[in-house]
Amino acid sequence: MSESAAPESQAYHFGIVPPGTSPNVGWGKRPELLPEAGLDTRCVHAGAQPDPAYGSVVPPIYQTTNFAFFDLGTSSGFDYTRSGNPTRARLEEAIANLEGGSGATCTSTGMSAVLLALNLLEHGSHVLVTEDCYGGTFRALEHARNTYGLQVEYLDLADLEAVKAAWKPNTRLVWIESPSNPLLRLTDIAAVAALARERGAFSLVDNTFLSPILQRPFELGVDLVLHSATKYLNGHSDVVSGAVVAAPDRKDLAQRLPYLNNLLGISQSPHDCFLVLRGLKTLTLRMAAHQANASELASRLEAHPAVARVNYPGLPSHPQHELAKRQQKGFGGMISFELKDPTKVPSVLRGLRWFTLAESLGGVESLVAHPATMTHASMTPEARRRAGISDNLIRLSIGIESLEDLWADLKHQLD
Ligand SMILES: *Cc1c(COP(=O)(O)O)cnc(C)c1O
Repeated sequence: MSESAAPESQAYHFGIVPPGTSPNVGWGKRPELLPEAGLDTRCVHAGAQPDPAYGSVVPPIYQTTNFAFFDLGTSSGFDYTRSGNPTRARLEEAIANLEGGSGATCTSTGMSAVLLALNLLEHGSHVLVTEDCYGGTFRALEHARNTYGLQVEYLDLADLEAVKAAWKPNTRLVWIESPSNPLLRLTDIAAVAALARERGAFSLVDNTFLSPILQRPFELGVDLVLHSATKYLNGHSDVVSGAVVAAPDRKDLAQRLPYLNNLLGISQSPHDCFLVLRGLKTLTLRMAAHQANASELASRLEAHPAVARVNYPGLPSHPQHELAKRQQKGFGGMISFELKDPTKVPSVLRGLRWFTLAESLGGVESLVAHPATMTHASMTPEARRRAGISDNLIRLSIGIESLEDLWADLKHQLD
């Protein structure tokens, strides 16, 4: 056998399809049709082309650390799973497609997505951040301040004058959480993104609470979108996952994201990617169900005499209801509220039947949480007070159960 024939026969032996000779004609065709397709169609089909090896309709889990080279210098495009994996590539394609971005990278958790995004900053940068941001994001930013000298400033980003006043020559990033957690406060995303661009910084929206179905940050001019895919994107409370997505006109960032993911070693496992891909298929259905329940429950809670205040952007009483209608495609499935009698908070938290007392959110099942002692315990009491997170605030992640069951449960505790 001649030497030149060896790689081919070896490849045949290992069952590797030579590059460019994939027998599957469907592969690579449907993604081109996707941009014009509706979001429901894209949830089902983005990243879901039949597998080129055997045509499996559901993406296989490539549970492997490494990939055989076809020949010296010729690989399938994948060599090592930390750097790249076909199952993860599908999820990245799907999330980038749903957000309308130029590229995405998927990380082991939402927090590792936060870490990755912060690693885009050069030394000596200054960051402006939503004041009542996710507690873990606050902790990561404080760690970066103490360890790497990152300059961080928390403020109400809805106050554009305050944002301008806080701006420094080294401000490189505006970190927007809208709606924020747990107070559901909004930022005028288009206004802040425009300011950031004008001044040579980039803007990021943590879109965890609304998902690309209910909020489309790239259409508002931001540079990056971040997700804790643990929440609505996966939707079934069985995997932790994160993603960072680059805007359609930020291909430069899209290239740096996978580079940093590989460098930091925080990429998502193939099995977890498979689960999130499965979750994505029902994203539009789930978001509609979460939102229908939440809108109705928010109104009923607001009308209940035991309740002092309800935070839900869909309520006309929400101070930024008009902004919510303008910049969001919906109001989401998260509600927080305060009781008139703070001594009743523990019994409500303990007594609910369909709402599990648990952290996290965005799953099909309803959850109740006490931000001051749970999700936001990593904030200092002073930072919580400044952000307006009181000890009698209760947060609900509204699931997709029957509305009347959820209401009967809440009403029973409030009565
Ligand atoms: C949960 C969450 C995160 C962190 O994500 P994990 O998957 O828990 O690591 C970040 N931002 C927001 C808004 C979140 O709700």
